Amino acid sequence: MKLFDSHTHLNSEPLWEDWQWYMQKFIDVGGVGLINSGASESYNVQGVEIAKIAERDFKNCIVKATLGRHPLECVEWRLAADEISAKMQWLKELYLANKHYVVAIGETGIDVHYSNGLETLKIQKELFIQHCNLARELKLPLVVHSRDAFLETFEILKNYTDLTIYFHCRGYGPQEFEILHSKFEKLFIGFCGNVTYKNAQALRDTLAIVSLQQLLLETDAPYLTPQIIRGETNHPANVKYMYEFVSEILQINPESLSQQVETNFHTIYKI
Ligand SMILES: [Zn+2]
Repeated sequence: MKLFDSHTHLNSEPLWEDWQWYMQKFIDVGGVGLINSGASESYNVQGVEIAKIAERDFKNCIVKATLGRHPLECVEWRLAADEISAKMQWLKELYLANKHYVVAIGETGIDVHYSNGLETLKIQKELFIQHCNLARELKLPLVVHSRDAFLETFEILKNYTDLTIYFHCRGYGPQEFEILHSKFEKLFIGFCGNVTYKNAQALRDTLAIVSLQQLLLETDAPYLTPQIIRGETNHPANVKYMYEFVSEILQINPESLSQQVETNFHTIYKI
């Protein structure tokens, strides 16, 4: 069965050093497509580098990158307002020099989960808006990270209904999904390990109503390890647990799920 990890971070700290090893593990379980999502300067550069090397060394697996700055950069590193334009320009140049390897803008969005999230909300919004503008300019899908801030996220996103939106795993409940669904024609929802957690009934309720044509599966590794192996560092091969879990919950046979996710992966990323 073919597996696709639509949003992961082999370009991040605990996986980066041994990324080839993790790639091989992914391929061994049936992995044929994987997207490393950008979130910081090093994630972006490393994501492109992985895509280049993988094209040569892992020919049977599609490996591409997305480019973006995570909202938590504002929180953790105190990104200042006057730094944003320069960072966005850098991002655009990185894209223009590596078009073949980059399939989307993001991840980006709004995150007020941590204590100083609200304090930095204004700057997070500005960063998010600039990503939306860049995605529009470059005609690329936008990968959205939103946590504890649905309304703030939607307030901005609603001005970009022409974009293809990938709302990745920090999902919300059915009500929020319906709002997005009614507004965006080109909407994809990614589910990762947190949908398997005991307290995540709202996410499972969303999973139950998302149409199969909107569904993507992901690991968001190294984060959000599925319940079945929780406590371990997450990595792309674990996307197999997502396929198992989702086919069980939705009561669809794994092979049809695999085919549908494959179609969606190609549709959103145009690869
Ligand atoms: Zn992520």
